[in-house]
Amino acid sequence: MTSVQTRHALETRALDHLWMHSNDLEWDDLQEGGLRVFSRGHGSTLIDVHGAEYIDGLAGLFVVAAGHGRTEIGEAMARQAGEIAYTAASNAANPVNIALAEKISSLTPGDLNRVFLCSGGSEAVESAMKIAKQVQVMRGHGKRYKIIARRGSYHGTTFGAASLTGSASEKYFGPFMPGVSKVPNPNQYRNDFGLDGEAGDIMCARFIEQEILAQGPENVAAVIGEPISVANGTHLPSPIYWQMLRDICDRYGVLLIMDEVITGWGRTGKWFAAEHYGVVPDIMTMAKGLSSGYAPVAAVAVRSSIFDDFRPTGQALNHLITFGGHAVAAAAALKNIEILERENLVQRSAEMGTYLYDLAQKLRSHPTVGDVRGGLGLLCAIDFVKNKDTREAWGTSHPFIKFLALRTQEEGLVTRVWDVLHLAPPFVLTRDEAERAIDIVDRCLTEAEAKFADEIQ
Ligand code: PMP
Repeated sequence: MTSVQTRHALETRALDHLWMHSNDLEWDDLQEGGLRVFSRGHGSTLIDVHGAEYIDGLAGLFVVAAGHGRTEIGEAMARQAGEIAYTAASNAANPVNIALAEKISSLTPGDLNRVFLCSGGSEAVESAMKIAKQVQVMRGHGKRYKIIARRGSYHGTTFGAASLTGSASEKYFGPFMPGVSKVPNPNQYRNDFGLDGEAGDIMCARFIEQEILAQGPENVAAVIGEPISVANGTHLPSPIYWQMLRDICDRYGVLLIMDEVITGWGRTGKWFAAEHYGVVPDIMTMAKGLSSGYAPVAAVAVRSSIFDDFRPTGQALNHLITFGGHAVAAAAALKNIEILERENLVQRSAEMGTYLYDLAQKLRSHPTVGDVRGGLGLLCAIDFVKNKDTREAWGTSHPFIKFLALRTQEEGLVTRVWDVLHLAPPFVLTRDEAERAIDIVDRCLTEAEAKFADEIQ
């Protein structure tokens, strides 16, 4: 274990110099013990510099699918670095990025057979957007620049991707990219139209058609959405929603982009969530679980017909990312996929997902648990309310939410609590860990409900 002095020094140095990315805990909370410095991990376990163990309830940030401590991924990366670490992304290739492109083509549904490699989810979304816009021009539809996104969705932090994102701060960064419209996102718990179940999802799909017509189909390049939007609260749309979107996009010559940055690579119990819906998008983005976080690597998989439409024009995609197809990153992704296949981890995500989701149902007896969503792989969300009848949420900055975030962490569960508490652990999660995770949420909720009893209706 690290000495007391080192422990203190590490936390202080982090607070002094590390600019942590947008975080749920405020600066004061971090100063007062919310900051954890993790130095080791194995499986679904994180270990901080004090030697305390935690269940990684979020696989980092929906990333570490294969679990922590996979030295064989590191070994593959070291071998690759010794052979060649980097080749330019333009006019060159290396054996591992070729193999990775082939592997992704073989695992993605339908004819998503052309793969553009990059380094992170936001880059993948930027690339997808530019591919969609450029191919529309190649097809002779130069006016089609508009993109339809969904309210509450998250697509990334770079300017284009942020423009498609519900929570991006207009106050600090606006105005965002022109030509983006935001339409309702499927939500069977608090539906924009007051409709229950599938009916609400159908209305959301129709809304997209209306938006295409309102903007003029001749102006619209693409529709983008996460198959299951975690940022919007992990509402699982009915299959008909995605099937309708596919038909609508085809009818109006609009490209369908599915952002599988979270849902890809087994998170929902299938390689890609699109498979649950029987839909093949025109363009699919992926990142996170592609390397289980052992290297920053992401990809855009594109239907052959899109790539083919670049060919006769003799024009390349006008988009180059220096680190795209990085050999060491590709080696990490390939080894990670090999592990997912060898250990049947996608199947395990499906099975453990059902186990965790079933366990989480007992939380419904709490007066503040309005809904428990999930059941497709290891992607579960517990929705907190002040009032079960009105379904009024607490709001992400409410002390009730903060208390839960801090207490669950103190009790040994690392997760994320916005309006909902997300559980998306590594696929190697054990039954015992699943039970402990739900017990921690259960206990911390009981404490929170006692503390905020006056506000619960
Ligand atoms: N799309 C989705 C659906 C995401 O969830 C995220 C990240 N959470 C991104 C894109 C952006 O990925 P990154 O943070 O790797 O840039």
